[in-house]
Amino acid sequence: MQNEKVALFIIFGGSGDLARRKLYPSLFRLYQKGYLKDHFAVVGTARRPWTNEYYHNIIKESLADLKPDDAQATAFADHFYYQSHDVTNTEHYVVLRDLAAKLDQKYQLNGNRIYYMAMSPRFFGVIAGHLKSEQILTDAGFNRLIIEKPFGHDFQSAKELNSEIRTSFSEDQIYRIDHYLGKEMVQNISAIRFGNNIIESLWNNRYIDNIQITLSESLGVEERAGYYETAGAMRDMVQNHISQIATLLAMEPPVSFSAEDIRNEKIKVLRCLHIDTIEEAKRNFVRGQYGAATIDGQQLDNYRDADQVATDSNTETFVAGKMEFENFRWSGVPFFVRTGKRLAQKATRVDVVFKQVPQNIFKAASDNDELAPNVLTIYIEPTEGFGLRANAKQIGQGYATRPVDLDFRHSARATANSPEAYERLLLDALNGDSTNFTHWDELAQTWRFADVIEQAWAQEPAADFPNYVSGSMGPKAADELLARDGAKWVFDPARPEIEN
Ligand code: NAD
Repeated sequence: MQNEKVALFIIFGGSGDLARRKLYPSLFRLYQKGYLKDHFAVVGTARRPWTNEYYHNIIKESLADLKPDDAQATAFADHFYYQSHDVTNTEHYVVLRDLAAKLDQKYQLNGNRIYYMAMSPRFFGVIAGHLKSEQILTDAGFNRLIIEKPFGHDFQSAKELNSEIRTSFSEDQIYRIDHYLGKEMVQNISAIRFGNNIIESLWNNRYIDNIQITLSESLGVEERAGYYETAGAMRDMVQNHISQIATLLAMEPPVSFSAEDIRNEKIKVLRCLHIDTIEEAKRNFVRGQYGAATIDGQQLDNYRDADQVATDSNTETFVAGKMEFENFRWSGVPFFVRTGKRLAQKATRVDVVFKQVPQNIFKAASDNDELAPNVLTIYIEPTEGFGLRANAKQIGQGYATRPVDLDFRHSARATANSPEAYERLLLDALNGDSTNFTHWDELAQTWRFADVIEQAWAQEPAADFPNYVSGSMGPKAADELLARDGAKWVFDPARPEIEN
């Protein structure tokens, strides 16, 4: 049996989409694995006037995909309590304090509390303030605050939000979720880099030509258009997930694999992230918005035709850009990043493109003048693994070469059994391990970086939106951006038959 964790969870937004789709199933998996057993309880709060019985049914419904044993699901749901709660009403926190104290006694929770903000960020400050003023924070055990994205809209608003929550929680009590940091292969970046001499020895500007990070989605905005319209791909993906992946790729080896040592290295390399001027931002970043297309007989409409989206919306659904870390290791190596909706294929991956050998001595024997570059690919989604593209001799007479792939993918069975991102992160928070959460100093740097690009774009609304068809890999400008540096995207999936 696993080491049992002891805590009370208080979830703000207990009736919401995140709680149902991610948090309850993840807590259940921790329960099945014995991390949560007898000494835990969950208070779900939201505005609706639900009973505990009704809430228990919601919990059980949320587990349907896991096909749980009935008795086990019921025993799990029995640990859940519902409180109808308006986050701006002080009296409701008094009720919550009493309920928390009662559950603490009933389940012997030692005053350990995890507060989960699974609702609109505009309430984070008011909740954190009340947790302190109404003495829901305990002196006996730990108090940890898990907070969801988006963390601010720009540097200034993030700073204000941070000041608000810091009045009640210290930095080491705050766990800012970036769920990409909970993904198996994102965590594996460090193992691949720091566990392999042949990789780490080449991990610098002498041997690497450029690094490419792609987070492409095939779906459009679907039902998230209201939020997306105020955010765009830059805030939704680049400022957080892509910047975090770039940081893990760029940081120096930490002294040890402790949360503190890793964080120090992440912050250090983020301080080397070149912050563009407005003019540079216009040159180094391109934006796009998807347009209508018919793919395999299915009609897909313009982003601008989605519900809650302005018909002249300037919101970008695609970003490609060049990030640069100015230090000894990375000077001159562009980190090309790309993300977008309605692209040809859903995938998250990193392609590390190595420099060519100084001379192609096989030229006379091959049809191609140039050897293919060596590429290390880290597959994050949907398959997980990594591969190395190397040049080898073609079978037969002569010395014609061709690229071959040394490929390792985790099996479907191994990945099916591996913990889901939210499950890992919840367990990390229970363990007090903040390695895979975002520190304020990291956020401050990435917001400063993102702000300039946003400012550049605000100065000049996009005249050409929509500028890429659904099902493509984004606007032409994204290819031209790399071509300027003599590079091209390694990941260029076959585009489906599109009629525009
Ligand atoms: P949601 O709209 O589905 O749920 C919001 C919850 O807040 C509901 O339980 C609602 O009852 C409650 N609520 C709203 N106003 C309230 C008030 N005044 N008092 C008390 N309760 C109130 O939202 P969601 O999709 O679950 O997202 C929650 C948070 O998680 C947001 O910050 C979002 O950006 C973030 N997030 C969500 C997802 C996701 O997959 N849903 C992914 C990443 C981040």
